[in-house]
Amino acid sequence: MSKQINVGGVTLGGGAPVRVQSMTTTHTADVEATSAQIARLAEAGCEIVRVAVRDEADARAVRAVKDRTPLPVVADIHFSAKLAVLSVENGADKIRINPGNIGGEEKVTLVADCVRAHRVPVRVGANTGSIEREYFEKYGRSARALVESALHGVSLLERHGVERIAISVKASSVPLTVEAYRLLAARTEYPLHVGVTEAGTRESGIVKSSVGIGALLLDGIGDTIRVSLTDDPVEEVYAAKRILRACGLEKEFVDVISCPTCGRCEWESMRLAQEVERLTFGAKVRRKIAVMGCAVNGPGEAKDCDLGIAGGRENCVIFKKGEIVRSVPREDAEDVFLREVRACLEEG
Ligand code: SF4
Repeated sequence: MSKQINVGGVTLGGGAPVRVQSMTTTHTADVEATSAQIARLAEAGCEIVRVAVRDEADARAVRAVKDRTPLPVVADIHFSAKLAVLSVENGADKIRINPGNIGGEEKVTLVADCVRAHRVPVRVGANTGSIEREYFEKYGRSARALVESALHGVSLLERHGVERIAISVKASSVPLTVEAYRLLAARTEYPLHVGVTEAGTRESGIVKSSVGIGALLLDGIGDTIRVSLTDDPVEEVYAAKRILRACGLEKEFVDVISCPTCGRCEWESMRLAQEVERLTFGAKVRRKIAVMGCAVNGPGEAKDCDLGIAGGRENCVIFKKGEIVRSVPREDAEDVFLREVRACLEEG
């Protein structure tokens, strides 16, 4: 089991649930826009949010952003010890930095002293684009190079007594990412931030992230995940939650199962399946609801469901735990079933 760290009141690692992270796309100094986006992310189920700190205005804005959100805020900094310190002084709950590229020993000391004093954790993030020259020359663009580079960054902080650390070793290649995290997990007990970087636009990014993050989570690797998409970051949170659910790591949710339909389907089940999914996505109850294309196979295939519907030429049947409880004309089926779904969510 990994060590546990605390990120602004949210535990990471050490048996805590796998946490969902995302990153804002706004300029952090635009406090209104940043806070509004964080509110949407929190509403979708995000548990930790990262903001880009490019300059002093962004670093100082961390305080105002934090005042407007209940989520822990992570400051993402490249190359600058000064901005790292300023972000922590303005209330950042964690910083993401690469100690290998902030300007040498003196700068590392500055950051280390600051995070120790404020009890703020640091994520050391190595990406294929930021592998330390020494390891790149030795191991090329490889999993080994990513891991050695990240662990080197960790050792720079450890030398200064920093113990609250999380690590990431991301690549845009799924096999490389998975190989790197497996290597890393065997060599460290620090909590791991897992993700496939630059995964792409919504559809291909979700596939890459699901395969990469999913493979690792099923191996028991990963304490917090970030799905990286070229899209609204709220989509990252939805995707992350679906990955956790598919991996069996989130128990309190509504599992909507629906058949792919085939030539036996006599009604428009796809629209209803999407509506049920939308209606139930945020519900924190353990239910299984089925939307099936036909009554020939539907009730039988979904007999472990709390509630289900299967279409027919004239009537749809509604079933509970495999038993048909009512038959409704097709034109009323959607309304009746959605009422049943709401009632099912409210049952104790
Ligand atoms: S439930 Fe019916 S419509 Fe759906 S895939 Fe099975 S046989 Fe086809």
